[in-house]
Amino acid sequence: MRHPKVSDCVDVFDALWPPALAESWDSVGLAVGDPDSEVRSILLALDPMDAVIAEAVVLGADLVFNHHPLMLKPVKSVNAATLKGGAVHTLISNDIALFNAHTNADSARGGVSDVLISLLGITDAEPLTPHTAGIAASAEPELPATGIGRVGDLPQPTPVRELARRLAAQLPRTTTGVRIAGDPAATVTRVAVCGGAGDSLFDEVRAHGAEVYVTADLRHHPATEALDTSNRREGGLEIIDVSHWASETVWLNAAAEALEAEFAARGFTVSLQHSAVNTDPWVERY
Ligand SMILES: [Zn+2]
Repeated sequence: MRHPKVSDCVDVFDALWPPALAESWDSVGLAVGDPDSEVRSILLALDPMDAVIAEAVVLGADLVFNHHPLMLKPVKSVNAATLKGGAVHTLISNDIALFNAHTNADSARGGVSDVLISLLGITDAEPLTPHTAGIAASAEPELPATGIGRVGDLPQPTPVRELARRLAAQLPRTTTGVRIAGDPAATVTRVAVCGGAGDSLFDEVRAHGAEVYVTADLRHHPATEALDTSNRREGGLEIIDVSHWASETVWLNAAAEALEAEFAARGFTVSLQHSAVNTDPWVERY
């Protein structure tokens, strides 16, 4: 068994979370690093925050695998005194590569929303917004459709309150916790989820006949308008809001398993470690 190069790692990441599945506005792939450098250890994290990069330096990691991009918007300088430039400098001066799989990891089968909906016992969910590459792929029967969000049916009708409690028990504990909008006692079967910020998908959620929507970062106006829209139609929509970090960090466990298998299948040995840094920004509530 040999250690992969950064370029071998990129091949593995791209096989599991094809960059073609990323949204057009997104920034995915190798952000920092020399494709020819050897990789003995990889640190898995959700956010490329300074504390995560500092952790990678202390651990001697050769590559940081992130979900969220360091540079989503173009930067004109990597001056070390700037927010992004400081991170790039620390990474390069410690010979650490940085890679991220973002909306391609949301869209792929076994991705962020698949893991989130599986916490509720739903394993055969379909995308809320199918990806066009996924539609082409679904012509092959063994390749199911990909896309953002998931919708599926619970084995039996369940009160919204019970679903919120299940999520609270299975997601890492966060300051903002798990919150319900609408009727906590409503009994629902059809569930839509979107890991991360999902308040732009209410139309798709309704179009799929979902009775409850689980997502994160819900703002006041989209939430209140979604409740009113639902109340004026047949069948309401209840909402469960979870922490953005919590909704996505559970995916990293599935990602680590998939990476372990894929590196081994290609004859590579590399150590995978989860970041111990909690990048949920909220630390207290009163
Ligand atoms: Zn996110």
